[in-house]
Amino acid sequence: MSNQLNDQTNKNLGTADGDAVTDQPGVGGAKTDQQWREELTPAEFDVLRRSGTERPFTGEYWDSHTAGVYKCRACGAELFTSGEKFDSSCGWPSFWAPLAEGNVRYIHDRSMGMDRVEVRCANCDSHLGHVFEGEGLDNPTDQRFCINSVSLTLVPAS
Ligand SMILES: [Zn+2]
Repeated sequence: MSNQLNDQTNKNLGTADGDAVTDQPGVGGAKTDQQWREELTPAEFDVLRRSGTERPFTGEYWDSHTAGVYKCRACGAELFTSGEKFDSSCGWPSFWAPLAEGNVRYIHDRSMGMDRVEVRCANCDSHLGHVFEGEGLDNPTDQRFCINSVSLTLVPAS
């Protein structure tokens, strides 16, 4: 009887070891959730790594007119500039284009009963916000990259 129990215990341990392998960093230096939790504040983690949304008009940059480059707060990749930022009065920093196509990537998001296009950092795959188009906005692309302040770090132009 005790031998059987030992066998069972060993099998369970074996399975646990197997699962642990998948928890290691993936290809391309991707970080685990645990690593992100250590590097980011809880608010940053919730938005960047859990696709959360900060409350409108509460973020650092929704009303900012400072000239500079907006970097990914998770990895530092340059994503947007003040040159494409515009006042949308939606309560989040809004841009009509990224710094360069390829710096962000797009994911079709049908969660929460809406049909939206999610915007992520192409470098570290962190959630930034959503992009909307065809709203009749007076800007060159008629697009609105609606980005969470907490996903960005503004580096003012010197
Ligand atoms: Zn990033």
